[in-house]
Order: sequence, then structure tokens, then C-alpha cells
Amino acid sequence: MNYKNYEIPTDLVFRTRDIIDMKGLNCSALLNPKDFCDILRPPVKLKEAELKLKFSVLSKEVLAQGNISGVMEAQCSRCLEGFNKSFNEEFTQLYPNKNEIIDIMYIAKQTMALLENIRDICSSECKGLCAICGVNKNRVVCDCKAPSFSQFDCLRNRFNTKNVREE
Ligand SMILES: [Zn+2]
Ligand SMILES: [Zn+2]
Repeated sequence: MNYKNYEIPTDLVFRTRDIIDMKGLNCSALLNPKDFCDILRPPVKLKEAELKLKFSVLSKEVLAQGNISGVMEAQCSRCLEGFNKSFNEEFTQLYPNKNEIIDIMYIAKQTMALLENIRDICSSECKGLCAICGVNKNRVVCDCKAPSFSQFDCLRNRFNTKNVREE
């Protein structure tokens, strides 16, 4: 098998034999966002991503070192709006030479799933949603006022008084 004629499998499932025959491989591929629909829950979705991959053949294993970079549509955990998030993730995995296949799609999906679990915010200045009327405070200014400490003090005083009377 010639290194130059090698075509990267579109499903990213490589045959271990091919990699060993070529004594390793350096390659890159664009990922298809459709392949990640089952991993990312809407509204989070992958917009575009590139995979860079390096296989090194060791005595008993094949070492895969990968990098996935791209842009995903993320959701702000404060204001719940969607926003574009750039990412750049690396992975390293060993595959025994006697395994028939090297499933890089599986590890690419795992990498994306971990990214989804990060609590994102659209900006460090995000004001979030109003706890009373629910508007996005980045866009709308509402008149809601959070209960002030003085009001809590009033309540506490009332309870204290009540306790005193009961005694
Ligand atoms: Zn936000
Ligand atoms: Zn409000």
C-alpha cells in the first residue's frame, strides 16, 4: 500500500493492517457535522471541524495522536442564547496491533461529547436572565427589583417578636 494513494476512510474507521503497512500515517480530514448529531443535543451542534491525525507504529501498538479544531454552536448557561464557540482539542490513544480496526470516529465523538458538558457563557459580561420576569437582561432592561435586604430584615424582626411573645 502506497502512502500517497491512501484514501482516508470517510467513516474514520481505519484498518490497522493498512497503517502498519504504511509504517504510520499523517493525515487530515474535514469532519461532517451530521456525524455528531447523535452526540450533541440541540441547540448545541457542530458547525465545522477539522481533524488532524498522526499514526505511529510501535512494536505492539499503533499510537494515534489527534487534534480536532473547529466551531460549534453552543448555548450560554446564563442567558440561554446560542453563540459560536471555537475549540481545539487533542487526544492520544493506543491501539493493539492485533486489533483489526482503529475507530477514530468513536474517539472523535467522545471528544465532542466532553466539550458539550462544559458550562459555557456567551461572554464574561453576560447579565443572564431576570430571575423575576425572565427577560434576557443583555437585550431588555426590566424594572424588576430583587427583594432588598431591608425587607428580609423586616421579616426576621417580625419572627423574633413572635417568638418573644410565645415565651
Ligand atoms: Zn449569555
Ligand atoms: Zn425582570
